[in-house]
Amino acid sequence: MEEQDVYIEERIFFSDRVISVEKTMMKKSEAEWKKILTPDEFKVLRKKGTEPPFTGKYVHQAAEGTYICAGCGNLLFSSEKKFGSGSGWPSFSATVAPDAVVVKPDNSLFMKRIEVVCAQCGGHLGHVFDDGPLPTGKRYCMNSISLRFVEKNKLKKS
Ligand code: FE
Repeated sequence: MEEQDVYIEERIFFSDRVISVEKTMMKKSEAEWKKILTPDEFKVLRKKGTEPPFTGKYVHQAAEGTYICAGCGNLLFSSEKKFGSGSGWPSFSATVAPDAVVVKPDNSLFMKRIEVVCAQCGGHLGHVFDDGPLPTGKRYCMNSISLRFVEKNKLKKS
């Protein structure tokens, strides 16, 4: 199959999921998010900003644990799938579960990218690219500020 066909098929699949997830997604007003998030978190999570490369606190984080959404606490990534991509942003080859995030086409800034948002609160996390390590081949390129690291054994069930 041509790359373009795969892209179009993925787009159709993604938009179906986006519609179903957005119906159930945690809905908060901008004012409510501003109360919960710092101004920098708000800029990235709610306004799709990007932190400058090599500035985020998890770029070189190597400890064992789990990364949760800074907006809502949804479990997103495990340190087991974190790898050094050299990109300047924390990078993962897979999410903890297929339904942890939702992906959507993002054609902003004259680029064809796939945006990754938290499936629970819709917060912007980063983008996913197809140049990651096997077996997934994915590189989830995340903003540190959209994540919270929870050390192994310290994750509480809520
Ligand atoms: Fe979230």
